[in-house]
This record gives sequence, structure tokens and C-alpha cells, in this order.
Amino acid sequence: MLDRDEIDALFAADLPEPEHWERRFPPRSLPAGAQVTRFCPSPTGAMHLGGIFVALIDKAIAGQTGGVYVIRIEDTDQEREVAGAADVFERGLRWSGLLADEGGSRGDYGPYTQSQRADIYMTYAREFLRQGKAYLCFATREELAALTKEQSAARVMPGYYGRWAIWRDASDDQVRERLAAGDPYVVRFRSPGKIGRRVGYDDLIRGTLTQDDNHNDIVILKSSAVSPRLPTYHFGHLVDDHLMRVTLVIRGEEWIPSVPVHLQLFEAAGFEPIPYAHVAPLMKQEGSTRRKLSKRKDSEASIEYYIAAGYPPDAVLYLLRGLANGRLSNLPIPEALEAPLRLEECGIAGPLVDLAKLEDIAADVVAAMPSPDVMEAVMEWAELYDPQIAALISAQRDLARRALDIERVGVDNPRKDLRKWSDFRQVYGYFFDSLFEPVTDPSDERFGGLDPEAVRRLSGKVLADYRDDKTSDGWFEQIRAAALATGFAPSVGAFKKDPDGYVGSIREASQVVRVLLTGTTRSPGLHMVADVLGEEEVKRRLGAVLRLT
Ligand code: GLU
Repeated sequence: MLDRDEIDALFAADLPEPEHWERRFPPRSLPAGAQVTRFCPSPTGAMHLGGIFVALIDKAIAGQTGGVYVIRIEDTDQEREVAGAADVFERGLRWSGLLADEGGSRGDYGPYTQSQRADIYMTYAREFLRQGKAYLCFATREELAALTKEQSAARVMPGYYGRWAIWRDASDDQVRERLAAGDPYVVRFRSPGKIGRRVGYDDLIRGTLTQDDNHNDIVILKSSAVSPRLPTYHFGHLVDDHLMRVTLVIRGEEWIPSVPVHLQLFEAAGFEPIPYAHVAPLMKQEGSTRRKLSKRKDSEASIEYYIAAGYPPDAVLYLLRGLANGRLSNLPIPEALEAPLRLEECGIAGPLVDLAKLEDIAADVVAAMPSPDVMEAVMEWAELYDPQIAALISAQRDLARRALDIERVGVDNPRKDLRKWSDFRQVYGYFFDSLFEPVTDPSDERFGGLDPEAVRRLSGKVLADYRDDKTSDGWFEQIRAAALATGFAPSVGAFKKDPDGYVGSIREASQVVRVLLTGTTRSPGLHMVADVLGEEEVKRRLGAVLRLT
């Protein structure tokens, strides 16, 4: 083993000792039971819904125990880093209400971005080397590839261990020679693991798990040829979660196979091991099978999908909370959003993201919002995603609000016509003159096959006698009178009894007026629609179908 001076010479002369960092980041003074959790995205692309799912659990557990929720950016894989990803994360987390208690420039345990913590990792890597718990490995990429090939031919487990760990027991002179030549190296952990040994630990979601111990001499510090020299995830996790005084690691289940090596690293460092909770991945139903929601294949795997469609964040949060703890999906939305989460109730099987269910939840969330809040939310969304709608609403705020009020204000069961802000254009667009396309063709299929002449006669008569009427009965009476005057039966029953005596019933007549006023075959109460539109606009729309004559 190299002597201490030789090891120290590999690092900056003023690199602090571990005690420095221990003092700088002292144990937190928090009440008993308070949990310090952390969410650690890697800026390699979009913010995955599964990330939001984990962050939600992190925040809830920290919040409900009086602890701290930390966000740490894990950017040690600089080759995979995507420019701007950190901003995308920030946006996704802000939208979801999951910004950190500590992170960025907030908190005493930072920096919270791994690439800015290089000297901290160096201190501990040097310590591992000094204690013989790690060693330098000069194996090249090609040598490692050849090793893997040999292992596969020999049908043995791949990895860097036993006789395959070519630098583990290299002589000091061999190492000195390569250092003198300036060859790049990585630092590897000298694993104490033995093949065939099993290791058990308690996962806070899964209970006791037993698996093969680690016997691989994993890399802890990446190549000396790259600056800054950064740790691997494993070593970063060890150092950061220790020094940030994290008390609970909640992360994706893909890390379960790494637990044995993490336990070895904590033991080697002399750090208190931190309990783990491994969260199951979100799933998607595809035909009769379920598979993981995939960042590559599924647009709904990214939080941007929900932001761009304009789902209310609470709908997404309610859905995810219900997926974390099934119990919560039976609670009313406001209660479920506040209720504590329990790790032991997070399932082991990946929960299914059901977009149809999200639509229903979102309809409930929107239905419970007062119209001015809906309008503000639509505006805020539209400014980014539908500028035309944003401009129309801001120019005609009163019209927009009154349209939204219809069957929303003063009723027991508000309309559930909006699920997401992007629905607004389709559902409420017709209230705006500039978006409404007048119906000019009396044989338009939206009239349901009614005789075009009857359509024209009816609209001509309604138009001729039309006047605003604030009362629902009074308003309908004029439609009724025009319908009777133009050959429609006064009731469905009367029409059925004598189909040849009429062109249709009052139902078809109302439908004609609906199509003329709204361009759709389904709308809220016509009287209210007409009231919002105003007499002049109603007349313009009624008359459009007469222009062809
Ligand atoms: N950066 C890791 C990831 O993105 C985080 C894992 C962890 O939370 O420890 O998977």
C-alpha cells in the first residue's frame, strides 16, 4: 500500500480533513422522530412523474414529522446531463408544490449540487485510500471490456472482484510506475464482501429483504483525467446523505440491488447506516399487460405533459397520493391532500397511472373551484400554451366569468365540463364572437337531419320576435311560441302520436336554437347561454342560417 504522503500527494495540499466537514455540517437539532428526507434528481432530461411521486412522499414524511425535506441535484454523470434540465425540474417541482425546504441556495448543509461538492468527496476518498479501504485502478476501458468477455466465456459472474480485480493487489511499485507515467486512474472500493454471503436489512416499505452481499470493488471516484473529479452515485450518496444528516433514504426500487454495497460503504466509512424505503415504479396498462411508465415511450411519464395540458396540480397530487396509499383515494380531495402518508402502506407492486381516473379527479377539482379562480388558472395556463385564449379572456373578463358561472354558481352539483385548462377553448370558446363560427347551412348535420326548410323557418321566427328575457320561463316561452308557429309539436309525446302532423317536437326545436347559438349539440342551459351572449349576439347567430336564402 502506498504510504500516507504518497496518497496525500494525489490530492490538493489544502484538502480539509473529515473533521472539518463533520464540524461544518453538525447533526441537526430536530425534535425526536423528525425525519430528514431528500429527493435527488439527476438532470438527465424531463422530470419523470415517478420522480414527482417519490418527491411527494419525501416531502410528506418530512413535513408530517416536523423534519426537513432536502433536494439535491445529482449531476455526477456529466456525459448524460441535458442542458436546462435543472430548470425543467424546478418548474415541475414548483408546479407540484414540491419545492424543497432545503436546496439550491437555501439551507446550511449545501452546496446541494453534487458537482459543487467535489472537495468534500475528495476528503473521504483520500480517507478510504489512507486506510486501505480503497485503491487506485489503472485498468483501461479496453482492458475492462476484455475482462468482461473472458468472464462470459468462463461463465462466471461479471464484475471486478477476486482474480479479476487486477489492481486490487497490485504492488506499490506497479502503482508508482503508472502514477509517474501520468496514467489516469479511478479509485475503487476494496469490498469486504464474499461470494455466497447473504445480507439482510429492513426496508421501511418492503420489510426484511435478504440478498447476495456485494463482492465487487466498485468505482467510488471517477477518472483522474476528468476535472472536476467526481464520485459515482454510490460514493456521493454515502458522503452526502451522511453530511446532510439525512435520516431516511426514500428512492426508486431500482436501487435495491445496490443496498449491499451501500451498507458496506457506510460500515467502511464508520457512518451510521441510514434506513431505506424503496418505492415501486409507476406502471402503465398496455392491453392486458402492465409495464413501467417509460420516459422514452410515454408522454404522460413526464410532468410536462400535465402542465402543458393544464391539469390542476391538485388533481395530479391526489392521484399520486392515492397511488402511494390506497386509503387516500377514498377520501374527499381536500382531506386526502392533507392526510399523512404512511411508508408501510406504500405497495410493493407498482401502482397503475390511470389517465381516465385523473380526468374524473380533475373534473371534481375544477368543479369545486369558484369561477374567478378557474378563470385565473385558465389565463395563467393560456399565457404560455394558448395565447389567443389568454388575450380573449383578458379583453372580455366579464364575459368569461359569466360563462364560467353558468351552472357553477348557486347549484348543488356544479358542471363538470372542464378537466384541464386546455378544455376551455373547446367548451367555452363559443362564447367569444371571434372564436365562434356561425352556423350558416340549414342542412348542417348538427341539426340532426331536420328538414332544412323547418330549420330556416324556425330560426326566422325566433329571430323576428326575439328579445332578452331574464326569466328562464319567459325566455323559453318565446322559443316555444316560435316552434309552435312553425310546425313543431308542443311535446315529444304529441309529436310521437302524430309524426306526420309536425316537422318535429319542441325538443328538436330547442336543439336547433342550441346549435345556432353554440355550434354544439350539448351546452349548458340555453337561457343562461343567451343571457351571457346578449340580445344582439343571439340575433346575429340566429340569423346566420338565413343568409343563404
Ligand atoms: N440520482 C438518483 C436517481 O436519479 C437518486 C437516487 C436516490 O434518491 O438516492 O435515481
